[in-house]
Amino acid sequence: MKISQEKKHVAVFVFPFGSHPVPLLNLVLKLAHATTNNLQFSFIGTEHSNKPLLSKPHLPDNIKFYSVSDGVPEGHVLGNHPIERVNLFLEAGPENLQKGIDMAVAETKERVTCIIADAFVTPSLTKCANNSDTNTPLDFIPGLSKMRVEDLPEDVINSGSEEETLFSKTLASLGSVLPQAEEVVVNFFVELDPTSLVHDMRSKLKCFLYVGFLTLSLPLPPLPPSDTDATGCLSWLDHKKKKNGGSVAYVSFGTVVTPPPHEIVAVAEALEASGFPFLWSLKEHLKDLLPRGFLERTSENGKVVAWAPQTEVLGHGSVGVFVTHCGCNSVFENMCNGVPMVCRPFFGDHGLTGRMVEDVWEIGVRVEGGVFTKDGLVKCLKLVLVEEKGKRMKENALKVKKTVLDAAGPQGKAAQDFKTLVEVVT
Ligand code: UDP
Repeated sequence: MKISQEKKHVAVFVFPFGSHPVPLLNLVLKLAHATTNNLQFSFIGTEHSNKPLLSKPHLPDNIKFYSVSDGVPEGHVLGNHPIERVNLFLEAGPENLQKGIDMAVAETKERVTCIIADAFVTPSLTKCANNSDTNTPLDFIPGLSKMRVEDLPEDVINSGSEEETLFSKTLASLGSVLPQAEEVVVNFFVELDPTSLVHDMRSKLKCFLYVGFLTLSLPLPPLPPSDTDATGCLSWLDHKKKKNGGSVAYVSFGTVVTPPPHEIVAVAEALEASGFPFLWSLKEHLKDLLPRGFLERTSENGKVVAWAPQTEVLGHGSVGVFVTHCGCNSVFENMCNGVPMVCRPFFGDHGLTGRMVEDVWEIGVRVEGGVFTKDGLVKCLKLVLVEEKGKRMKENALKVKKTVLDAAGPQGKAAQDFKTLVEVVT
């Protein structure tokens, strides 16, 4: 029986030595016979490994062969040991396999949707995967269909490649370590996850506990009197509230990120040009990067401090947008306060969090092109603070706030999961 399919393109990576190519081709033939012609196979080997296969009778039209280099440098005289050929092929493997894919895609005009590889070429495969289009959706991972390759932490992408670090190895090892843990405890509310990720995780881990946001006690306490705020942010916001309502842009990139100088300049120019009042938590040593005269020109409309009481700032009714690096604490603090966001993810988990903010919860927007530019940020600020789309983001942000506050209550799942954790620990 033929299984009907949409147009798919399968790249097949051969280990081009000994008897390896033949069973792989036979597998492809079986697949080709079991499926419709909507399935295209690109069989990538070397000239030497492909040649005997091409003479096989009754090869269907939807299998095409591509030959890449065997990795033996020109003029190189091979010794007697057969492993030398293997090593040379594997060394050149990632680049060659990528070339094979490029050839196949150029000819078929179909992007590769699936890869079948001989287990011996998996290191090359990882490298090829790392080279893949950064816009590729991660729809092959349950719950991550909205995420793209570019959202992944660099250390996850580098895992298995030449750029692999001890940290990327550590992250990769979590896949085998976590299923051994009796409990895996997550700093998050399950009610905030509308994807199927949780079901998938539950199927892979012994026990998966969502215990809520661990850096915040909810409900948040009432705002402290503004005179207890050392940097004067809250009284400044009180004043702005009277004058401008809820249209202050609060800007902070957390404790670790240092944006490159040109982006600091772009943020300053955008804040000044947009005309919206702003409160910017900017590390003292970065102030030197601000455009000449910026602080003086914006002294009426803006305030730049080295540290702000962030949770209280976000809870102050005058803040209308949070320009953030998408650190998870910042995003969680913000979710408890219902403020829409402009996101500029830098590294680590920022990309995934930014994508959740924009595409899953729809409570913010990521800056165009992934970096701050004057025009790009002005556009985002207007979108959030003035336009219809921004109003919808605000409504969504208030819904998310309600979800968090309900989830943090005694009937929420976090309280039950925490009870389970207590039982396990005691
Ligand atoms: N923070 C703050 N005031 C500031 C800047 C940052 O209180 O002026 C706090 C913020 O509230 C958050 C933390 O610093 O709790 C930053 O954590 P996040 O996970 O957002 O980013 P990271 O610093 O880990 O990159």
